[in-house]
Amino acid sequence: MSASIFEDGFSSDRLFKQGYSYTYDDVIFLPHYIDFPTYSVHLASNLSRRVPLSIPCVSSPMDTVTESHMAISMAALGGIGIIHSNLTSFEQAHMVRSVKSRRVPLLSNPVFKSPSDRIQSDDVFDASNPYVLVTEWQPQFEAFGLRFGGDCWGGGGYMEEKKRDVVATVRENEVVDVVAKEEVERIKGYPKLGVGTVGPDGTWLVGAAIWTRESDKERLEELKMYSKLDVVGGNVVTVSQAQNLIQAGVDGLRVGMGSGSICTTQEVCAVGRGQATAVYKVASLASQSGVPVIADGGISNSGHIVKALVIGASTVMMGSFLAGSTEAPRVFVYQVCMGSLEAMTKGSDQRYSGDTAKLKIAQGVVGAVADKGSVLNFIPYTMQAVKQGFQDLGASSLQSAHDLLKSSVLRLEVRTGAAQVEGGVHGVVSYEKKSF
Ligand code: 5GP
Repeated sequence: MSASIFEDGFSSDRLFKQGYSYTYDDVIFLPHYIDFPTYSVHLASNLSRRVPLSIPCVSSPMDTVTESHMAISMAALGGIGIIHSNLTSFEQAHMVRSVKSRRVPLLSNPVFKSPSDRIQSDDVFDASNPYVLVTEWQPQFEAFGLRFGGDCWGGGGYMEEKKRDVVATVRENEVVDVVAKEEVERIKGYPKLGVGTVGPDGTWLVGAAIWTRESDKERLEELKMYSKLDVVGGNVVTVSQAQNLIQAGVDGLRVGMGSGSICTTQEVCAVGRGQATAVYKVASLASQSGVPVIADGGISNSGHIVKALVIGASTVMMGSFLAGSTEAPRVFVYQVCMGSLEAMTKGSDQRYSGDTAKLKIAQGVVGAVADKGSVLNFIPYTMQAVKQGFQDLGASSLQSAHDLLKSSVLRLEVRTGAAQVEGGVHGVVSYEKKSF
């Protein structure tokens, strides 16, 4: 018998050389030898050269996904959020400051007033800003302020003891936030948070998106107060695009063109690439220069995250997977794609149609998303599922997965249409899908 009869599946190199544009659903890994428990799998990774994360999750800079609350929560989970740029440079910088001034991933957005200010009815009746803080009594805040130090669960006991429904959080003797008892109760039932993403100064790390137009230099000015910025460039899908950006000195690459859940770039412009092929090709090059790759778009389940990470990405960037969560802006409304006419009207047309274009062509749609609950709840469950995937592959870390792939030990196959149907739920009249 010839040795090739024992050869099972394809190496990644052979599979991605066939001239097809594969996306995550097209490919499947063959299981490998398992000699460790799920809890031994570590998903620590890097967003970019100098930004380590304890989970490989990034929230997308979309106006329906990442503003301050999402960024705080992603950082608290050990990932990171990138504030979108569909707002003025001042507003964007304000959001970055707001993330950095908070301690705990709770949802409150108090309105700050001084005693001489008039309090408007809008301030009091806005459901998303339920607290008005009059901040001239600064010395007294120390008396009832609470130093959480990142432990919001401990805060519940404090409130119980002091019989308070709301307490202020202070930072360097200044009130920065309020925390309500009901919020603490809400997150008490969630999985415990891991190691949060904080910088050397102890504040949450957060990213901000900018475009590459002349006017974006102003945006950069507003954001440059944070020294030692890592620059992530993108989006790219080919080796030569990636090469250009690496030569230009990027610290990370964002990969994906038209792979977003509600984006129509490939349909409208006939340009793009299947996301699995794009991530594999770009990551193969980028790994030689030590530049981490963000797989951006197309993530709709934990299996997609496993695939993106194993074929070379260091992190996944998610839009629709996080839209509709408690932490996303406009929870009850719609996810608006940044290239949709609606979003372009608000400002993102600079990216999608150029400054001077009079005729706007959409490269995205507006869609409804389901209410998903809090990312503080469903991301830890998703990460547990990802760990189980890594265990099935015999990889206890991203590095070991990448090594198994590169050494051709890890084998893959392309799934036919029928195999994809078989791999999903089938043959039942009705079912209810609960992920955790
Ligand atoms: P998702 O996770 O929803 O599948 O994809 C999110 C990604 O889609 C974003 O990070 C961004 O790169 C991309 N995206 C968001 N809005 C648009 C859009 O309107 N048009 C295109 N072509 N891509 C978009």
